[in-house]
Amino acid sequence: MPLASYFIGSRFFGSATVERGSEPLNSLAWFCEGCGEVWGRAVVEGGTWAVEHNRCQACGPAGSWDPRCPGSLLRHPHFTRDYLMPRNYAMALESLPRPLLERELQLALKYAN
Ligand SMILES: [Zn+2]
Repeated sequence: MPLASYFIGSRFFGSATVERGSEPLNSLAWFCEGCGEVWGRAVVEGGTWAVEHNRCQACGPAGSWDPRCPGSLLRHPHFTRDYLMPRNYAMALESLPRPLLERELQLALKYAN
């Protein structure tokens, strides 16, 4: 199984093996449509790059109409492998290393309505 290494900004958050589905895995870059920064990366061995859109923590929520959690690597509301295309499994909840799971929980609690 390919190894994915995760970064928020320049901080390393751990590596994990990612289940490979029926197609090659993507490396993922999270792009903030508020400030234009790529604030997160999942670097997958041998993966080509794809861009995910979500606002960074510094920019915060776009508005009450936007259910996404700023700074989250999870694709709301489809955050598990069951709802993702196999090439995007590096962003599945099941794939994230423990430090990122703790970060996701903190974000969810911060932005829970
Ligand atoms: Zn931003």
